[in-house]
Amino acid sequence: MLKSIAIDRNEVLKHYKTIAVDTHKGIQGHALLIGGSYGKMGAVCLSSKAALKTGCGLVTAFVPKCGYEILQIAIPEVMVLTDAKKRCISNINFDFQPNAIGIGPGMGQDEVTQKTFLKLLRTNKSPLVIDADALNILSKNKAWFLLLPARTILTPHPKELERLIGEWNSEEEKFEKTISFSLQYNVIVVMKGVPTHIVDGETIYKNTTGNPALATAGSGDVLTGIITSLLAQSYEAVQAAILGVYLHGLTADIAVPKTGFQSFIASDIISHIGEAFL
Ligand code: AMP
Ligand code: MG
Repeated sequence: MLKSIAIDRNEVLKHYKTIAVDTHKGIQGHALLIGGSYGKMGAVCLSSKAALKTGCGLVTAFVPKCGYEILQIAIPEVMVLTDAKKRCISNINFDFQPNAIGIGPGMGQDEVTQKTFLKLLRTNKSPLVIDADALNILSKNKAWFLLLPARTILTPHPKELERLIGEWNSEEEKFEKTISFSLQYNVIVVMKGVPTHIVDGETIYKNTTGNPALATAGSGDVLTGIITSLLAQSYEAVQAAILGVYLHGLTADIAVPKTGFQSFIASDIISHIGEAFL
């Protein structure tokens, strides 16, 4: 069987950086979250808020026009850019250089959305986290794999992973396929599950935090925000993934004695990020 490195407190402390006393929001990292569509604006709200709560200095959300008031009211700390289209994203454009981009939560897979995602892959110069519908679009257009910037982080749940790399017949085969995908395209794959594994070439990391409370709507969208925020704060890609999955799981371990498993929701992950850091 393949060997893996445990993502525990010791491993995480190797990567964690404290915040300088003289820092300011301008050097603390600017994350851009792209997503949302009519009826699914909550996903990008959760990602954006999670990014702020993980410590980056600035967060901008790029959403369809119908998301403008939703974002501004839900999270006053987030800046909002809107697409020309009301219900879906058709032309991603922004006039600054984000320190990291997270794309996909709630985004939908409209034809125009696919086209603008392709344009972003061709022109983007920021470290990238790809999740949810952006992963599904990628799986429908496998030729685009070649456009993935080096060290892009992909965060598939099991079904999204299957769409990406194809079916597997055993756990061993699943890891073999994920490793060859990671090596071939020089990307990091966060294989979300129980437990979550991170594949970075031939190295496999196995998370030790988290519990079934995380099996709830929006949980993965929050993880995308957390990892994008860490990436924007100049953590190297695999470090951002390691810290991100650890913190995400730890929030549920801290919260469950108070909330129980059943009533824990994705917003509770966000409200416990602070305690997880402490
Ligand atoms: P998504 O399916 O994209 O919302 O992502 C779900 C997130 O919750 C991933 O980070 C999973 O690893 C995590 N998760 C879901 N179910 C469990 C579980 N039973 N135990 C631990 N983590 C889980
Ligand atoms: Mg998801």
